[in-house]
Amino acid sequence: MRAVDHPSDLVIVGASLAGLRAATVLRAEGYTGRLTIVGAEPYAPYDRPPLSKQFLTAPAPADTGLPVPEGLRARWLLGRPAVRLCPFKRVVTLAQGTRLYYDGLLIATGAAARSGVLPGEPGPRQGVFTLRGRDDAAALRAQLVPGRKLLVVGAGFLGGEVAAAGRALGLDVTLVEAGAVPLERAVGTEVGAFMAMLHREAGIDLRTGATVAEFRTGPDGRLTGARLSDGRTVAADVAVLALGAVPATGWLAGSGIEAAGGVPCDNRLRALFPDGQPVPGVVAAGDAARVPQRLADGAAWNLGHWAGAADQGAAAARTLLRGDAAPVFDEVPSFWSDLHGVRLRSVGLPGLADTVEVHECDREARRLEVSYHRGGRLVGALTIGRTSRLAAYRRTLADAIPQLA
Ligand SMILES: Cc1cc2nc3c(=O)[nH]c(=O)nc-3n(C[C@H](O)[C@H](O)[C@H](O)COP(=O)(O)OP(=O)(O)OC[C@H]3O[C@@H](n4cnc5c(N)ncnc54)[C@H](O)[C@@H]3O)c2cc1C
Repeated sequence: MRAVDHPSDLVIVGASLAGLRAATVLRAEGYTGRLTIVGAEPYAPYDRPPLSKQFLTAPAPADTGLPVPEGLRARWLLGRPAVRLCPFKRVVTLAQGTRLYYDGLLIATGAAARSGVLPGEPGPRQGVFTLRGRDDAAALRAQLVPGRKLLVVGAGFLGGEVAAAGRALGLDVTLVEAGAVPLERAVGTEVGAFMAMLHREAGIDLRTGATVAEFRTGPDGRLTGARLSDGRTVAADVAVLALGAVPATGWLAGSGIEAAGGVPCDNRLRALFPDGQPVPGVVAAGDAARVPQRLADGAAWNLGHWAGAADQGAAAARTLLRGDAAPVFDEVPSFWSDLHGVRLRSVGLPGLADTVEVHECDREARRLEVSYHRGGRLVGALTIGRTSRLAAYRRTLADAIPQLA
């Protein structure tokens, strides 16, 4: 195995948020060698959050391209998915057979929408969509015609936003959720009940405690609706499966990295083999990575949020450049969601909490402030319509918890 003190050939696989942020930091912090960015999609980096929000509702589809700094001097290989990694020879193979040798590699391949998890579901069918990329959003947008019936399966953040967008566009919307309230596991029943109220006030038919048992189609193969697990039926012209995302790490099969739940990383974003040894020269970031969280006493989490992907991309770049001398990654996670005209924001890891404290819950003014605690210690906070309150929580989370060694 070659040890590389001064890398001169860096490869980034994944041409999106984490990958672009890493490339930007590499150049800003003095890297002058060769930089290759590989992307499965044929597009320059673009932003995903607008795809479930204004991209769907604006009169014309918005350009969500991420700004690429001048002087990045990267070789872009777009529309060319990586299919294999051999970490011992330090080579990435692309679908067309091209082999890229590297001194340092960033894995930033993000995630894919979870689909086809419905019992008995034969696979993709007409009128049933998932939403992860620009092509998905464009296809869905074309179907969101006022007066149509939209069925959204899964009332997480993405499902909630798509349902809200559908409603804003004048569709009849049914939102089906397996839990007792939306988002219960992620942010607790208090916030879930508040979200349920927002959905219902907007005129969405929210059905909780149910899943889709089967989709129904007419003789022409077009979607007509679904039968739910509780026996009720829903009429639908369009359905969106919003069932979460899975790390897009299938291409690492055979590399020795066990990455089904995200590439396991140490606290400098170095990818790890199952025995805990770093994969030589390889770092990972963003939705493809599983990264130690100091709020969780160093346990590794696959977060799937914008800010984490951007911050990790930057941190991974510093590790490629400086190795052990790079700072430890310990940003406090954060997340936002926009729907029904309000902004939800969270910091920390609400999912860790054993106790939730509600500081304000004003349904009329649509304002909510809650904090999350575990063993008496603050682990997160969430606001709706109260963004200014979060800065103090963030400071407490950043200061009070011991840094990872
Ligand atoms: C519709 C939508 C709305 C969202 N809204 C919010 C929000 O409101 N707030 C928030 O905090 N977060 C939100 N997110 C999450 C946020 O967008 C992601 O956390 C972020 O995009 C992750 O960035 P990434 O670079 O790690 O991965 P991605 O953005 O997924 O990019 C990975 C890239 O790698 C490419 N790729 C995959 N496999 C390969 C391969 N084998 N070879 C080469 N390239 C490959 C993909 O095509 C993709 O371009 C949203 C996500 C979606 C999909």
